[in-house]
Amino acid sequence: MVRLFSLAALSLTLLQSLVTASPFPCLNGHCSYTRANLTPEIVARELGPQLSRNSSIFGPDDARWVEATTRYQEYNRPHISMVVEPAREDDIPKIVKYANKNSLDFLTVNRGHSLSGFNGNFSGIQISMDLLRDITINKGGKTAWFQGGTYDQQVIDELFEQGYVATTGSCSCVGMMGPGLGGGHGRYQGRYGLISDNLVTLHVVLADGTAITVSEKSHPDLLWAMKGAGHNFGIVTSFELNIYPRLVDTWYYRNYVWTQDKLETVFEEINRFHNNGTEPVDMAYEVGVYTMNYSVSSTEAVIWWSFAYSGSQEDAQKYLTPFDNIEAVSVEDGNVPYPEIPGRTGSGLDDFVCSPGYDHMVAQVGTFTWNVTTQRQVYDLFNQKIQEQPAMNRSSVTMEGYSTEGVRAVDARTSGFPWRDAYNHLGFITIAYPPDASLDEFALEWRVQHRDLWNQGQPGRLPTTYVNYAWGDEPIESVYGYEPWRLEKLRSLKAKYDPHGRFNHYNPITRG
Ligand SMILES: Cc1cc2nc3c(=O)[nH]c(=O)nc-3n(C[C@H](O)[C@H](O)[C@H](O)COP(=O)(O)OP(=O)(O)OC[C@H]3O[C@@H](n4cnc5c(N)ncnc54)[C@H](O)[C@@H]3O)c2cc1C
Repeated sequence: MVRLFSLAALSLTLLQSLVTASPFPCLNGHCSYTRANLTPEIVARELGPQLSRNSSIFGPDDARWVEATTRYQEYNRPHISMVVEPAREDDIPKIVKYANKNSLDFLTVNRGHSLSGFNGNFSGIQISMDLLRDITINKGGKTAWFQGGTYDQQVIDELFEQGYVATTGSCSCVGMMGPGLGGGHGRYQGRYGLISDNLVTLHVVLADGTAITVSEKSHPDLLWAMKGAGHNFGIVTSFELNIYPRLVDTWYYRNYVWTQDKLETVFEEINRFHNNGTEPVDMAYEVGVYTMNYSVSSTEAVIWWSFAYSGSQEDAQKYLTPFDNIEAVSVEDGNVPYPEIPGRTGSGLDDFVCSPGYDHMVAQVGTFTWNVTTQRQVYDLFNQKIQEQPAMNRSSVTMEGYSTEGVRAVDARTSGFPWRDAYNHLGFITIAYPPDASLDEFALEWRVQHRDLWNQGQPGRLPTTYVNYAWGDEPIESVYGYEPWRLEKLRSLKAKYDPHGRFNHYNPITRG
């Protein structure tokens, strides 16, 4: 018995030494275990020659590491062992197959702005989409092809230059597919719907490394799922999206700063302005923020609010007069080409909202109207917490209002996005601070207090979670839909296309 045990121990030791020896030729090129000491150098040697010329594989010693792996959400960050940057779309199936053969987990990263606070259990390869940024407008100008690494400001700039616009997110810094696979709210949604509503064809690499085309004609079941729950199913190497003629050359914007004593009046006017979801299509987007502005006060957050109108100041004025009547600390406005709108309205590449490298504790709410009493409670809590913990003074509470006409025009059953009629406004708090574990408990407690206030402000309403603002602990039905058929359908598609849960690192349908 003792001999048997020592033999077993010996063979285990032998196996381990073979596993850690590098490079270890796995049988038939397929390892059924994770090769523990698989260094970036080994992977570069084994996988590198299979990839196209400008692709890269690198680890923490490389000068590019910090930039490639810095994330918007630093809290509970994934454990990245190496970065693989494919230079061509057809590199991605090879990377996935190599990862599968070596039982390595992989995470698709484009702009790194995932808000999820639940990535800490990921350990493996980061597949960076940075080199896949081509945009090609199709003949006829009805659609264009975008590679999987394109991002909002790039798309806005390049299309505008050529006389077109498309549905994108509102913030310059986020990718097209991060938002788009979960819906994608943005300034053109009132007119044209969500990003996902405009997806025509997707080139997708599945969990087993197979490259497929997804459209109404090819895998239509997967097209349905990828329009709302797409992060669960594959890597989009490129996508065909509807584009539209640029109808106006300039947009008008106006930004107000109000002190807290105007809070009730502001929310009453915002509710009137939205008039139960009938915000005019051209008054595309308004957004308010509770934020510290030390030039106004060091003890009380200001209320900053920005309106963006697709058209002239003259046409916008009738909507803005009620807000002009609320005495402001400052008002700023302008007529600018559409690509400048994000930068003028607080969501540009250089704005703090886009800055990576912070811990962000996040909670969200969807509402039909703002509960004014709740908005006051949330404001008071915000102020109190910043006074208690000044290191968190870059935190903000954001309240978004979009025109919803184009989103509601789409039949809700035709896509995996579950919330077409569920909210007029999205609100979220981001409790932001430079990474410091000693502050986490305070921030997590604040997050829950804040979330509970928002939920208590809508008694009887089931909470809804926009997947792209999810923190990760929300009930799964609140993310993918309360109608039972939705989750049933998604789960059966998951079993078909990703049976081993390789794409389970971003608000997964199946939690295990
Ligand atoms: C500052 C800020 C502004 C935001 N503004 C908006 C907005 O205006 N509208 C809106 O709807 N949402 C917005 N969001 C939420 C945003 O949709 C999500 O944070 C989104 O995940 C960010 O995508 P990313 O490419 O930047 O991040 P990443 O972390 O790179 O990607 C997030 C996830 O998306 C998946 N993914 C990304 N690219 C691909 C691909 N090519 N193929 C397959 N999967 C992919 C992966 O699962 C990845 O984990 C914002 C978030 C932040 C932090």
